[in-house]
Amino acid sequence: PVITRFAPSPTGFLHIGGARTALFNWLYARHHGGKALLRIEDTDKKRSTQEAIDKILEGLEWLGLDYDEEPVFQSERAERHAEVALKLLEAGHAYKCFATPEELEEMRAEQRAQKKPMRYDGRWRDRDPSEAPQGAPYTIRLKTPIAGVMTIEDKVQGRVSVANEEIDDYIILRADGTPTYMLAVVVDDHDMGVTHVIRGDDHLNNAFRQLPIYGAMQEIEGGWEDPVYAHIPLIHGSDGAKMSKRHGAVGVASYRDELGILPDAMFNYLLRLGWGYGDREEISRAEAIELFDLSGVGKSPSRFDLKKLENLNGHYIREADDAMLADLVLPRLPEGADRALLVEAMSVLKVRARNLNEISEGAGFLFATRPLEMTEKASSLLDDEARARLALVSRALAQENHWTSEALEATTKALAEELGLGLGKLAQPMRAALTGTTTSPGIFDVLVLLGREEALARLDAQAA
Ligand code: GLU
Repeated sequence: PVITRFAPSPTGFLHIGGARTALFNWLYARHHGGKALLRIEDTDKKRSTQEAIDKILEGLEWLGLDYDEEPVFQSERAERHAEVALKLLEAGHAYKCFATPEELEEMRAEQRAQKKPMRYDGRWRDRDPSEAPQGAPYTIRLKTPIAGVMTIEDKVQGRVSVANEEIDDYIILRADGTPTYMLAVVVDDHDMGVTHVIRGDDHLNNAFRQLPIYGAMQEIEGGWEDPVYAHIPLIHGSDGAKMSKRHGAVGVASYRDELGILPDAMFNYLLRLGWGYGDREEISRAEAIELFDLSGVGKSPSRFDLKKLENLNGHYIREADDAMLADLVLPRLPEGADRALLVEAMSVLKVRARNLNEISEGAGFLFATRPLEMTEKASSLLDDEARARLALVSRALAQENHWTSEALEATTKALAEELGLGLGKLAQPMRAALTGTTTSPGIFDVLVLLGREEALARLDAQAA
């Protein structure tokens, strides 16, 4: 069975890169009828906060990613991590290192001077612990292979090899008995039964450090098969640099709250960001589960493109239920806006909107009160001539018994013809008078939504 996990460190918000990693793990599990698990990597107690945990859970829920078991909290498993470290020590796959902080600093300084990457030199690997001073503190280090190469058949990166001499004997258990991150990840993945580790390619190097733990434990007690790895490329901004704040919003919640993106659109966009199925852009959740596989994940970083996201969002907005949309838009409108009216107007308001803000902006006229506030552009349209035309329009429409879009359009067109004017010559000042802006839904829909009384009052207020 396939078991995947998403393992965020709760130190901030749910980053869109993290969200995409979560999505790929979730889809892979769902596609294969396996299990999707969640692990909160909260071992860094100084940086991990409850608020961050809540934000991550909320973001995942918003995206519609559900998990098959309660989340595992890494910090609660320290004893188990230490137990594995001691097994490794006992079996000779790890050793006690008594190097003092000063010694290690000296080692580092030397390597820095030679411009070499920092690496522990293995000075306690073959030494007898009895050579250390009585009661001296020690760490436990993993005995990693010295010669040869380690190769990973990564499902995304392909075959990747590293010379074993590049992997130093790193610490798995600190002097205070707490586990390091590298050990904790492997023990947790094993204990959770994780078969596929799908994560950002910034963790590819870690895989080479983590695999020797599997190898050693497999030798010691069996049942520690290597997981399948899939290291997915990071998300880049439009300029090709790693996505960061200067490219715009990076938190999933910002896309929801500030940019007015629907979860289905985000789901679809994140899926398409790094995974392709021909040139299909719109892919539903059900199709995504059916079609997703790691073979479709590209090797090169994908570029985040807000326009594409918003285009998809527009698609999902048009498909969305009007009442549901109204509930999302209502909090973006001035207090007291009438929900029923908003629901009624939604099919008209959403036609061209690419995000919820555009809907709420477009809905502004519905809830405005007289005297209407005018944009500069709108008031510049209302010169004497335009105001005179508005008076004629108002008089004509006031005769109209059927306050429907079709009837109002017919009447207005007839008037335009009578005056020998293009329809725009009437529609533009009408829009300005009715909405206070120069962009709005179709002008006859606007008349209907406002209702006869309010519409005529707004026209008359600008007519001369
Ligand atoms: N906690 C790590 C992170 O947030 C992920 C570790 C992993 O996936 O192995 O980057």
